[in-house]
Amino acid sequence: MKKLSIQNLDLKGKTVFVRVDFNVPVTGGEVGDDTRIRGALPTIRLAIENGAAVIVASHLGRPKGVPEDRLSLKPVRVRLSELLGTDVLFAEDCVGDQTEEMRKKLVSGQILLLENLRFHEGEKKNSPEFAEALAKGVDIYINDAFGTAHRAHASTAGITEFVATCAAGLLVEKELEVLGKIVSAPQRPFVAILGGAKVSDKIPIIKSLIKQKVNKLLIGGAMAYTFFKAEGYTVGKSLVEDEMMPTALEIKKMAEEAGVELFLPSDHQVVDSYDPLNSRRVMPIEFTNAGLVGLDIGPESAARFEAALEGAKTIIWNGPMGMFEEKPFDEGTNAIAEAVAKATENGAFSVVGGGDSVSAINQAGLSESISHISTGGGAALEFLSGNDLPGISALDDVKAQNTH
Ligand code: AMP
Repeated sequence: MKKLSIQNLDLKGKTVFVRVDFNVPVTGGEVGDDTRIRGALPTIRLAIENGAAVIVASHLGRPKGVPEDRLSLKPVRVRLSELLGTDVLFAEDCVGDQTEEMRKKLVSGQILLLENLRFHEGEKKNSPEFAEALAKGVDIYINDAFGTAHRAHASTAGITEFVATCAAGLLVEKELEVLGKIVSAPQRPFVAILGGAKVSDKIPIIKSLIKQKVNKLLIGGAMAYTFFKAEGYTVGKSLVEDEMMPTALEIKKMAEEAGVELFLPSDHQVVDSYDPLNSRRVMPIEFTNAGLVGLDIGPESAARFEAALEGAKTIIWNGPMGMFEEKPFDEGTNAIAEAVAKATENGAFSVVGGGDSVSAINQAGLSESISHISTGGGAALEFLSGNDLPGISALDDVKAQNTH
């Protein structure tokens, strides 16, 4: 069912609560990469230009339900004010009497940023009392935080019980449109690339991709070692989830039966755990001995993966091919970033999600060469797996606009 969008609403004179994703890196009181703040600007601008008084709320980091100075949104207020060219007001707490006073005084065109939602336990617990407190005086709720849409928290789900009209912001609307097309009618060949540390996190997406009969499934990163060990290879001290080995074999079988081509690395960069950088070398997977740790796919695997992407019409990528935070174990991930960009130039529609793959794309300066960079890794995977996202299901359906 299509969800109501901020674009369908009359915002004039309304108090609009926008849940955004301002979970940005902050060091020494300064915002680092502000991509997420920039991402929310179109929705905030649309709201103020249409005469709304706007309350903006987000979480930052993982506070334990109590305030922590280093996780304050104050530095975000500074950057947001600069980007919008207007003074954004700031409430020291996201609920309470003082905030209520500020909300009452807020007029059309003004913006009030609330302090970190996760400074209250009620946020992650989706407490109805906390959700009701957030909703106080709010006419319209907008969810523009796709990255947290797979979580049922007070500001993403609970709040919608207490606000008359609940709609998607521009970012969320775009995500639903793009990912929705991939779920319903992907152009083929459809190639999925998955990496990262854990198979366990990605089982639902792998199974659902196989059911959707993705044409090729490329698996890299530490995840691959669980497949190799399950098949009886020695993987040394590489990261493995032993309890997932039966699942890995099940996945291989499912792929075979569905006619999905499964690609695993054939070589990798290994280190000797006693002398990591000096011992670095590339070797075929089957030569790995008990003392070695695999930290990245090798050049042969990168070339095979690149060839598998040739001619693709739809590509999704989530998860790095190795321990890419540590050079030179970023080489495999960078090679895949280049290959996805090249395939996109040659006509593929590419979607990259997940913090690590997105930063690899950004570091390589390739963001312009990707069709869609998703703002939510986990949320995008859940959506592509066919699961309901609580933060999206809670929004009004287009038809139900006047009956919520
Ligand atoms: P995930 O959160 O499951 O997407 O995993 C991302 C993490 O996997 C990154 O921090 C990578 O450093 C890590 N990673 C990927 N491949 C390897 C590997 N071969 N050995 C150790 N860590 C890895």
